[in-house]
Amino acid sequence: MTSILVHYSEIALKGKNRTWFVGRLVRNLHGALAGLHIKEVRTPIGRVEIVLGQDEALPEVLHRLRYVFGVANYAVASRVPRDFEGMAEAIVSRLPPKEAANSFRVLVRRADRKFPVPSPDLARELGSRVWSARGWKVDLEHADLVIRVEILPGDAFIYMGREQGIGGLPVGTGGRLVGLLSGGIDSPVAAWRMMKRGCNVTLVHFHSAPFLSNTSQEKARRLAEVLTRYQLRSKLYLVPFGELQRQITLSVQGDLRVIIYRRLMLRIAQRIASHVRARGLVTGDVIGQVASQTLDNMAVIDQAAQIPVFRPLVGMDKEEIIAEAQRLGTFDISIVPDQDTCTLFTPRHPETHARRHAVDEAERTLPVDTMIKTAVDSAVVEQLTYPRS
Ligand code: ATP
Ligand code: MG
Repeated sequence: MTSILVHYSEIALKGKNRTWFVGRLVRNLHGALAGLHIKEVRTPIGRVEIVLGQDEALPEVLHRLRYVFGVANYAVASRVPRDFEGMAEAIVSRLPPKEAANSFRVLVRRADRKFPVPSPDLARELGSRVWSARGWKVDLEHADLVIRVEILPGDAFIYMGREQGIGGLPVGTGGRLVGLLSGGIDSPVAAWRMMKRGCNVTLVHFHSAPFLSNTSQEKARRLAEVLTRYQLRSKLYLVPFGELQRQITLSVQGDLRVIIYRRLMLRIAQRIASHVRARGLVTGDVIGQVASQTLDNMAVIDQAAQIPVFRPLVGMDKEEIIAEAQRLGTFDISIVPDQDTCTLFTPRHPETHARRHAVDEAERTLPVDTMIKTAVDSAVVEQLTYPRS
């Protein structure tokens, strides 16, 4: 019977909350592996064991595990008897052929301190069996093959080779946020970063159809699909923004428009946040990247929101963000050409040091409450799930 032994790292440190964290991880694993033949998910101390019902499911299970936050590493493992002979036989019978390696080491971890043989002694004796069977030399530093043995109360596991997991905290342990998702490179990475810290992120995209094309909505949907792989369920709000922008152009001078657009976006997102019980907002802003992202402007933009606005990318370089977007799978979608909502009805030289009173003055002429209500009422909400049922 094949198992996958999953190790979590950081969540092991969470004291009394640990059971709750592990419970959430197990729930997320069940969700991510839905539809595959999983016999059971067990939680022997400090680990999660996924017992496969059918070996054919293995490649897909391993693939899906790459997207589960909270997983530090994972390995295909065998549960074996806890006696020395049983372990030695199980290891020898699973060894690759002689040509596959030149050196090896056996690493024993004893999570059950009551097990009578100390780890180094057990490693040495199991190692001598491997040596007899294959003749490889022992190398404690750079072994070609690392054979791991974990002794738990009632069970022992052996495995060779393991995969690095994605890390982070299980989604759902960090509360909910609303993520402002443009079609650009930054905002999906920003939302993903918060998911990685355990937050669920409800996604909101502002579009300017019919003034601009539908491309941005299509991109937002595809980005949301990629992000949903990591949080399993997403809501995507598609909010019509073009008419509001047109209204703004009638009374606000050109250089302040981007700031007013962005303040309005935050207010609308905040209203949505109250509907979905989210505690804060997330944007992909980076200091100095574009005119609206100076410190002065961010400060004035934030004053439109009463809940925290998180900007996980604020201190990152574009190259670093791009590398992350490529790793998580959103980059190719983000670079599809499209017209940016914020460039609609805006001049080429926007204000870079907005003053609070000038912005307040400009907004006084706008029916802000009505604009928020209209936007929220006319939003289209789409549900996404992974794996798709
Ligand atoms: P991005 O690559 O995320 O679009 P950007 O460098 O193009 O970022 P801006 O266009 O100034 O920067 O947007 C800054 C942030 O404001 C975005 O990261 C996003 O969180 C939010 N935002 C901007 N436009 C939209 C939009 N149309 N819908 C939703 N959020 C938006
Ligand atoms: Mg953008």
